[in-house]
Amino acid sequence: MATQRGELTSYDYRQMRARTLAASDVCIVCGHGAADAVDHVIPVSKGGPRRDPDNLAPIHGVDGCPVCLRKCNSEKGDRSLAEVTQLVTSVDWFAGP
Ligand SMILES: [Zn+2]
Ligand SMILES: [Zn+2]
Repeated sequence: MATQRGELTSYDYRQMRARTLAASDVCIVCGHGAADAVDHVIPVSKGGPRRDPDNLAPIHGVDGCPVCLRKCNSEKGDRSLAEVTQLVTSVDWFAGP
């Protein structure tokens, strides 16, 4: 009753995650390997297809990236990848530590 219509079951998610990570484990946000989760390139809430493999990409999950220590998935949140990478490049180049 509480599940939203069209919501992925955890089984579906695991299948898609395994398939996506088998193809590549390079995180779409930071570009490092060892991604352990997948995310929608275009968020489902913004009209991205939920089950389309082309809309799924590797990303660092709750443990973050072992190389740059960013929490890529929570950083990306509900934004589309284009928004995130734009933000990231402008911050990296102009802000500094
Ligand atoms: Zn990452
Ligand atoms: Zn990284």
